[in-house]
Amino acid sequence: MLDSGLLADLRAIVGADAVLTGERVRECATDVQGHAPGAPALVRPHSTAEVSAILRLCHARGQAVVPHGGRTNLVEGTATTGSELIVSLERMNRIEHVDTVGRTMRVEAGVILQRAQEEADRHDLMFPLDLGARGSCTIGGNVSTNAGGVRVLKFGMMRSLVLGVEAVLADGTVLDSLNRMLKNNAGYDLKQLFIGSEGTLGIVTRADLRLYPKPRSIATAFVACRDFGALVALLGHLDARLAGQLAAFEALWPEFYEVTTSARTSNTAVLPRHYGMYGLIETLGAEPEADQTRLEQALAEALDGGLVVDAVVAKSESERRAIWAPREDVWQAQEQYGLTFNFDVSLAVGDMTVYLEQVRRRAAEAFPGGRVFAFGHIADGNLHVIVAPGMERGKGGEAAERARATAERLVYEPLREIDGSIAAEHGIGLERRAWLDYSRTPEEIAAMRALKAALDPKRILNPGKVFE
Ligand code: ZN
Repeated sequence: MLDSGLLADLRAIVGADAVLTGERVRECATDVQGHAPGAPALVRPHSTAEVSAILRLCHARGQAVVPHGGRTNLVEGTATTGSELIVSLERMNRIEHVDTVGRTMRVEAGVILQRAQEEADRHDLMFPLDLGARGSCTIGGNVSTNAGGVRVLKFGMMRSLVLGVEAVLADGTVLDSLNRMLKNNAGYDLKQLFIGSEGTLGIVTRADLRLYPKPRSIATAFVACRDFGALVALLGHLDARLAGQLAAFEALWPEFYEVTTSARTSNTAVLPRHYGMYGLIETLGAEPEADQTRLEQALAEALDGGLVVDAVVAKSESERRAIWAPREDVWQAQEQYGLTFNFDVSLAVGDMTVYLEQVRRRAAEAFPGGRVFAFGHIADGNLHVIVAPGMERGKGGEAAERARATAERLVYEPLREIDGSIAAEHGIGLERRAWLDYSRTPEEIAAMRALKAALDPKRILNPGKVFE
């Protein structure tokens, strides 16, 4: 419980209608995986000044605070307990400025990613970050988690797309690190502290985003290969042939393609479901006809050379959407196979086949009747692995917790010897903190703790996330 004095002080800062309690918190703060919040109250500031006043108050009282964006995080990065206060940035959703010459956009943290994309598009520009949750995730969350997605191959992760941030520190200090220049080596690059630190070092309130010219052409293809090795060879072939236009290269293992195109979905299998491996390819360019032809020619060469055994190229936006739909329908495994555990790991492309074989073998031993689904952004070395132990969903309890621990072991342990990472793009949150030392050295974790202690000595910001 929070004391009523705190709630009264919060109402004085943001107005009574911007402080929610009780059932309203559950309605407004449940995450995408269905985890209900434990927090008894939620506050929705309208401005950086209000965020600052809230944190000054909470700092003085030692009150723990958990920042919320679109709640699409998959590692319990926004989970709360009964003694924490949620600060939701949803009302700070203004797009403040687009500089069409300098190609930058200044936004508040609560702006939904898709709105930022659309605003850039209206100015004949592009904000290239793109991921399945685009319609609900926010820029503040994208910054805090260093979001990745499907165009990292060409444009990098969020870190490459953020030129500056404004963040409020634990004691309420407003740190204005807004910056619209590509180059600024005037001392430490403080914005980096808030990118990917999951709200544990400060609350991001505004950001300067880097924009790109709007592509004049998008060409999309879906291909089938005999095996993973052929798909990797295809990536090399296309990278060489398409002169920097390759923007997405997604791998879908057959089990994943089967479940996301099954009769129980509304998705179409644009290629037959019996091939050994699938790839989704997208290019961005400047000449619609020539770019489409270039992609078709490169794929024709790949067919001739045996790298590809079947392929389809989208001829319209609706065909493009039909190609993407099975890839983005990532909740189908859970819909059809009950309880699932979602993983997001990084490893060298050359290790992926052996790694997945290990995971599948260990999963078959641990969960007879269970399933493993895999897809990923292989050009980034990023695999998403879904383990379905063959148990009903929603029962929870000890059996589910045991299954989770087993699934974590079988996915994470094989990464250690190949220097992989337990968190490619989803972060650590609560869910993976026990495994942090698989991917970071004791010295690295000590340096992280020193930063935390310096910036948040009372440990009020998103407590327990990343590390205890
Ligand atoms: Zn991803």
